[in-house]
Amino acid sequence: MHDSIRREIEQRLGVAVATASSVPGGDINEAFRLGLADGRVVFVKVNAGADPRMFPTEAEGLRRLGEGPLRVPSVLASEPRYLVLEWIERGRPSPRSGEQLGRGLARLHRLGCPSFGASPSSFLGTIAMDDTTAPDWASFYGARRLEPLLRAAAARGCASPAMRRGVERVLSDLPRLVGPSEPPARLHGDLWSGNVLHDTSGAPVLLDPAAYGGHREVDLAMMRLFGGFGPEVFAAYAEEHPLAPGHAARVPLYQLLPLLAHVVLFGGGYVGSVEEALGAIR
Ligand code: ADP
Repeated sequence: MHDSIRREIEQRLGVAVATASSVPGGDINEAFRLGLADGRVVFVKVNAGADPRMFPTEAEGLRRLGEGPLRVPSVLASEPRYLVLEWIERGRPSPRSGEQLGRGLARLHRLGCPSFGASPSSFLGTIAMDDTTAPDWASFYGARRLEPLLRAAAARGCASPAMRRGVERVLSDLPRLVGPSEPPARLHGDLWSGNVLHDTSGAPVLLDPAAYGGHREVDLAMMRLFGGFGPEVFAAYAEEHPLAPGHAARVPLYQLLPLLAHVVLFGGGYVGSVEEALGAIR
């Protein structure tokens, strides 16, 4: 860890750093486990040059998700260059972890948000999303998610003609496609299995949110897209907070969001998956 960051963190926390070791696995940032002179252990992410709003936004997202029943690391300091969180010691999932996650996520969603959007911005990976509120979910999903992501993919030179046509078709039919009206849910926003840890009691812990007020099927569709969540998670969710009719048919519609984001972040390798999802939306 760079000396200047270490000194800043020491000043900010009011305690010396005794040990520092790097933590592998982050896509975007450098991460460290710090042992502090007072015996505490903390997790630190250091931003090597991404958007300075990213960590303050993540901290705000963690705070909002922390009002729900699932554990999230508490935030000890958030600055443009670094984020200091409570260290979560990893354990193994218990036989109850899946059910706990499904039920907890349902309750978190149900805490809701004042409107769709309802945060200045959220970051999906490094993509800054405009979370300005919209009057209804179809308008939000179209104008704040699908349209800007298609534009960003095109700017990267990765929007195939079929992808453009497909997204345009979906945009023009969104009020019908999004299904029955639902209140804004409090979403994690980037819920793939790498963003769920298990602590030493086996309880699931949510990490790295891109939190905003949205449709709850968006979180569930992303969980299905990248895998790693067993059927017991979805069963517990449905028992706690049943989904609206037609939810299974809407999975590709809501997987379109993370798939388009993958094109923007990682390039043309995901265009085929976008086209496949588009073909399944009806
Ligand atoms: P990035 O934002 O760069 O993708 P992550 O938040 O995914 O970084 O974290 C990188 C690694 O650190 C992951 O392996 C993750 O499991 C682990 N990690 C994240 N937060 C904590 C924490 N509070 N305590 C312990 N390990 C953590």
